[in-house]
Amino acid sequence: AKYTCVDKDTCIACGACGATAPDIFDYDDEGLAEVIFKGDNNRGIKEIDEDLLEDLLDAQEGCPTDSIKVEEKPF
Ligand code: SF4
Repeated sequence: AKYTCVDKDTCIACGACGATAPDIFDYDDEGLAEVIFKGDNNRGIKEIDEDLLEDLLDAQEGCPTDSIKVEEKPF
């Protein structure tokens, strides 16, 4: 199981993650990324569906500031 959330303190609003994994990430009013999957609201408590895990890992690897956190357990 994978759970994810964005560290908004280090996110630079580059827009990469939402392009790579639009079902998982969107942006707030300041352009900072947040997890929107199943209403997660960037809490990191919703288990990401199996068919989205490749997108998730691509987004994590593509984040220039390592702001996308991924854990096996809810945050
Ligand atoms: Fe923020 Fe990283 Fe997403 Fe860019 S890829 S918007 S830095 S979380």
